[in-house]
Amino acid sequence: MFIAICILAAAFYGLRELARVESVQLFGEMRSHGPQDRPRVALTFDDGPSQPHTTEVLAMLAEQDAVATFFLIGEAIAKHPEASRAIAEAGHEIGNHSYTHARMVFRAPGFVRRELDQTDAAIRGLGYDGPIHFRAPYGNKLFVLPWVLARQNRLSVMWSLEGDGDLALQKDPAALAKHVVSQARAGDIILLHPMYSTRPGTRAALPAILTGLRDRGFELVTVSELLGKAPH
Ligand SMILES: [Zn+2]
Repeated sequence: MFIAICILAAAFYGLRELARVESVQLFGEMRSHGPQDRPRVALTFDDGPSQPHTTEVLAMLAEQDAVATFFLIGEAIAKHPEASRAIAEAGHEIGNHSYTHARMVFRAPGFVRRELDQTDAAIRGLGYDGPIHFRAPYGNKLFVLPWVLARQNRLSVMWSLEGDGDLALQKDPAALAKHVVSQARAGDIILLHPMYSTRPGTRAALPAILTGLRDRGFELVTVSELLGKAPH
């Protein structure tokens, strides 16, 4: 009995360790950065759309002729169809961030599949015909979710630079912009939440992030461009 418990514990520990390493996600492919030999980065915006913040963010991107990748929540697309359509029409990439932003760990495959499929349908309903990659809510990537993703031959996209995760940075737009611009490396996928109503600091920092990254010589590209991925 004791030996069985030890084996189980070791197996569980091993799985946890494996799950931390991006290249060996249990099933399916996951990427958290692109090739590091070219000065390109991808800005990714999680959650939303929400209004009026989506309109504000799109205006800032348009002002600087910059592209981004928006990982949208299906439910929020249904609530804000016009803002969602505006993202697609502006030529940005749209990713699937689940339908309800539920935690995906220990969910039945049917639940996970519905979350993905409903969101795909909502995105396609906007007239968007680009690639749709997936980013898990809360970054969960174990068990059922990767299995479903693998069965759908879908790419999971994480990030290599967390922009606005830190509470102090959220309150200080200049420090936030400096953090992102100074930490960025070639191939980075940068995570920001500019459509959260609770993150005015991220919106305030966005123009300086765009100019700062370009001043450092980075080209801003979509996730698919960065990863060299053909349409899904
Ligand atoms: Zn999220």
